[in-house]
Amino acid sequence: ESVINKIAAGEVIERPASVVKELLENSIDAGATQIEVTIEQGGIEMIRITDNGGGIAKEDMPLAVTSHATSKITDADDLFRVGTFGFRGEALASITTISQAMIRSRTADSDCGYELLINGGQAEPIEPCGCPVGTTIEVRQLFYNTPVRQKFLKTPQTEKSHIAEAFARVALANPQVQMTLMNNQSVVHQLAATESWRERISAFYGPEIADNLIPVSSTEREISLNGFVVDPSISRSNKRMQYLFLNRRYIRDHALQHALTEAYRGLLMVGRYPLCFLRLDMPPNMVDVNVHPAKLEVRFQNGGQIYKQLLATIREQFLSTDL
Ligand code: ADP
Ligand code: MG
Repeated sequence: ESVINKIAAGEVIERPASVVKELLENSIDAGATQIEVTIEQGGIEMIRITDNGGGIAKEDMPLAVTSHATSKITDADDLFRVGTFGFRGEALASITTISQAMIRSRTADSDCGYELLINGGQAEPIEPCGCPVGTTIEVRQLFYNTPVRQKFLKTPQTEKSHIAEAFARVALANPQVQMTLMNNQSVVHQLAATESWRERISAFYGPEIADNLIPVSSTEREISLNGFVVDPSISRSNKRMQYLFLNRRYIRDHALQHALTEAYRGLLMVGRYPLCFLRLDMPPNMVDVNVHPAKLEVRFQNGGQIYKQLLATIREQFLSTDL
């Protein structure tokens, strides 16, 4: 595999948690309602994700692991109306370039599944196999052929906590999906499918947070804001639990974090940060999600409006709530 390909792969896949994020997003895109994540040694040894989504047809398998091949965009204009998570066709190609991978998948109209083994980008012939409809992707020995990346891996415990966070972001954004996370044979999270966002939040953080959620909701010119802010009596010394989802995808946005801080002005102790679980939904053409390699940062067309909407919606809710 060429050095260029390996360097490019490192741009998308920084650590085991990046693999988990990309594979989870693919499973969601494939319409899965059940997803199981299993890791060994914080994902350094092994990551396996099984879903019950639509699967990959035999003839599409080679394409799925080819750079810049995606089944999700058909023309350049689509880049601006991305509804799915994947849209560049980089993730699987990158992952399979820098690991020993197995893809096993079956579509509903096929009598059997197919298995593709790829070792450092070298694919073996595709073989038929028995498996249920859906996809399993197993990634072993991540970075085994990129020693510099490998050296930057932290302890299994640290890598595991990054994976748990990647899992949480997808699980919080998709309460309707049943999701499990296993680490070295033990259950880290086992989440039942639910229609209730509060229930999913509760499954992660327990009653301390779930019983102190203040609902917020507003829609202005096609931009809707929904979800919860947490009662100011509960705060943190970091911004980790500020969950903001744009069209069901976790994002980081400094301006919106600032709006949140403004909304809580005077309600928190110095050095403390508010907690929130907020969902922004808007037509995909009102935002450019193609800015950041890991797609955590986006560029809004109406950044100013969204800032004001967030601030005003939370403020108004606080005024009518007995804090
Ligand atoms: P992208 O998601 O940007 O299209 P990826 O490299 O993540 O690129 O995936 C490549 C292609 O492989 C996808 O477009 C999709 O067709 C297929 N694919 C990957 N994972 C799955 C899955 N879990 N279920 C069904 N199809 C999948
Ligand atoms: Mg993808």
